[in-house]
Amino acid sequence: MSNELTDELIAISSEIKDQLQFFREMGFEDVGGSDVAVKLAPAAVPRQPQPQSQTEEAAQTSLSLADRVDQVDLFGELVAEPRKGAAPKSHSMPVTESLDESLDAIRDDLGDCTRCKLHEHRRTIVFGEGNPQASLMFVGEGPGAEEDATGRPFVGRAGQLLDKIIAAIGLRREDVYIANIVKCRPPLNRTPERDEVETCEPFLFRQIKFIRPRVIVALGSPAFQTLLRTRDSITRARGEWRELDGIKVMPTFHPAFLLRSPDKKREVWEDMKKVRDFLNAD
Ligand code: URA
Repeated sequence: MSNELTDELIAISSEIKDQLQFFREMGFEDVGGSDVAVKLAPAAVPRQPQPQSQTEEAAQTSLSLADRVDQVDLFGELVAEPRKGAAPKSHSMPVTESLDESLDAIRDDLGDCTRCKLHEHRRTIVFGEGNPQASLMFVGEGPGAEEDATGRPFVGRAGQLLDKIIAAIGLRREDVYIANIVKCRPPLNRTPERDEVETCEPFLFRQIKFIRPRVIVALGSPAFQTLLRTRDSITRARGEWRELDGIKVMPTFHPAFLLRSPDKKREVWEDMKKVRDFLNAD
C-alpha cells in the first residue's frame, strides 16, 4: 500500500474516532448507518460528573441518530458544508482600566453592581469561573435561572451540554474559563439590551486581558457580535476564525440553541475540532 493511501486511511480513521467520541459525549447510543448499528464504547476522555437531570436531554439526543443517518457518509463522516475561505478579520479590544493584577481585583471592582437595570431582578452576580491561566475561554450571553441562583456560569441544561462539548475535545471544565457578556440575568432570559452590554462588557474585556487565552469560543450571536464589534450573522460566521487583539476567536452556536436544534451539533463539532487542533498544534 502506498504511503499516501496509508496516510489517508489513518486520517479517515482518526476523523471517525473523533466523531464517535463526540457522539458518545452527546449521549448517543449508536450511530446507525448500516444493518448492524455501531455501539459506542465508553469514552476515553476524562468524564464529567453526570448532571442530575439528563433524561430530557438524553431523550432529545438519543432519538436523533437514527433520524440522521442521511448526514453520515459511507465512512461514517458527517457530510460537511462547503467551507468559506475568507482570511480572519482582526479586531481590537476597547481600552479598559489599567492592567489588572488578578481576577479577584476585577471582581472586587464589580462589587455589588448596580450600574445597569439588570441588577433590579438578579439574585446573584455571575462573574465567571475556571482556570485563570486557561488557553481556552468560552463566552456566553448572560446567566439564566440556574446561574442566577448559584452564581456560576453555564450550570443549567445548556451548561451541561457545554460540559460535554468541552469533554469532547479532551478537556475538563476546570481547564477552561467560562464567562458571559453580561453578569446579571436578563428578566425572562431575554437578550441583553445595548445599554446593559455596554455597561457590563468592560469587565469581560478586563477578564480576557488578564487571562489572555489562546482561543475564545464565542457562543451565539450576542457573544460573537459584542466581542468582535460586528453585526455579522452567527450562522454565516460560525466556523471561521476571527481575531481579537491577537487572540483567535471561534464563533459557534450557543448550546441553548443546540438544545432546540440538535441537528446543529454537527456544525459545532466541526468548529470545536478546529479549536482542538489549533490548541494541540504545538
Ligand atoms: N447561557 C449563557 O449564555 N450563559 C450562561 O451562563 C448560561 C446560559
